[in-house]
Amino acid sequence: MEVTLSVPFGYEANSGTEKLLRDFRDMINFCIEYALKNNITSYARLRKSVYQEWKLRWDYSTHFCHSACLVATSMLKGWRRLKRKGVAKGEKPIARKLFICFDPQLVKFEGHRLRISVKSRKFLYIKLKFGDYQKKFIEGWKNGELKVGEVFMNGTRVLIPFRKDVDLSNPSDWIAIDVNESNVTAVSTNPHAIQFKTNLREIRSTYFEKRRRIQRLGKNNPFTSKRLMEKYSRREKNRVKDLCHKLSKSMVDFAKQHGFGIVLEDLKNMRRRINYSKRMNRRLHSLPYRKIQFYIEYKANLSGLPVEYVDAKFSSSLCPICGGRLASNGHRILKCKACGFEEDRDVIACLNLLKRNPRCGGPRCPRKPPMKL
Ligand SMILES: [Zn+2]
Repeated sequence: MEVTLSVPFGYEANSGTEKLLRDFRDMINFCIEYALKNNITSYARLRKSVYQEWKLRWDYSTHFCHSACLVATSMLKGWRRLKRKGVAKGEKPIARKLFICFDPQLVKFEGHRLRISVKSRKFLYIKLKFGDYQKKFIEGWKNGELKVGEVFMNGTRVLIPFRKDVDLSNPSDWIAIDVNESNVTAVSTNPHAIQFKTNLREIRSTYFEKRRRIQRLGKNNPFTSKRLMEKYSRREKNRVKDLCHKLSKSMVDFAKQHGFGIVLEDLKNMRRRINYSKRMNRRLHSLPYRKIQFYIEYKANLSGLPVEYVDAKFSSSLCPICGGRLASNGHRILKCKACGFEEDRDVIACLNLLKRNPRCGGPRCPRKPPMKL
C-alpha cells in the first residue's frame, strides 16, 4: 500500500516565482475560454486542440499546457454542475487565485530547493524554508524511503506530497483507542491498558470563557473585540492541533513499539446517536475526535501499521466478556450483572472495540481484565 502525506514548505518568493504564478493563472483562463468557445469538455481533447494557440502565446515547457488544461477542465466541470443547479456565478469560471499544480515532469525536488523546468534547459530555482518537521521528510527522501509526488504551489507556500510504500501486514496483536472528552484510553489484546490523560476540555473551556468576555467587550469596542477574537481563536486552534499531534504520536509510537494494529471507533453516527443538550452540543462539537483519529491513522500508516474502524454502538453498555448488560458501579466504573466483570468505562469501551474488530475479534479479545501500565 502507498501512503501519501502532503507537507507544507515556505519559500523565498521573487520576481521569477511571481511571474510564473501569474502566467499560469493566465494559461488556465485562456484554456477555459478556449474550451467554452469550442465546446470541449474532455481534458485529452482540450490538451490536443489548444496546444498550437497556447504555444504561440507562451514560451514554456509543454507540460505547463497539460497542467493548465487539467485545472481548466476540472474548474469547468464544477462550474457546469453549479450551472445545472442554477447557482453558477458569471458567464464562465475564472481563475483568480495564484497557484500551480506542477506536472511531475516539471519539478525536481532537491531537498533544500525545487528546480522548475520553465522551458528546455531553462530552470527556475525555488529556495525552500523549513523547520524540524519538514527536515524529517527531507531525510526520508534522501535515504530513499520517500518519493515526491505532484507539487502544488501558491503565493506563499509549496505543498510537497511524500509517498511511501508500506507493508500493512497482519499484526498478531491489536490496540483499541477510545477518545473521549477528558482522556484517551488504549487497550491492547496483550493484556494491558494505558490511559493518556489530556487537557483538551480544559483548553476549550478556558478559551470559551475568554471568547465570552471578548464578546461582551464588543458592545463598546467592536474593533478591539474583533482583533482579540481572531487572536484567541488562532491560539486555541494551534494549541488543540499541537495537542492532537502529540497525543496521536505517543499512541502510534507505543503501537509501533509492540507491533500492534490499531482499532478506532467509527464516528460516522456518533453525534446523531447521542441525545444531548445545547451545552453538551458545544462540548461535543468542539472536540476534535476526528482530527485525532485522522492523525493516528496517517501516522500509523506511515509506520506500516493497519487501522480498522469498527461500529461502537453500545460499546459502553454491553459486557465485553459475556455480552450482558452493564450497570454503573461508582464513578466511571461499570459492572456486569451476569458475570460480575468490573472495569473502568473507558477500558470497557476499548475491549468492545477489540472484540468487534473483524481482523482480531472474538477469541483474541482479552479474557482477563487488563493491567494498568
Ligand atoms: Zn459479563
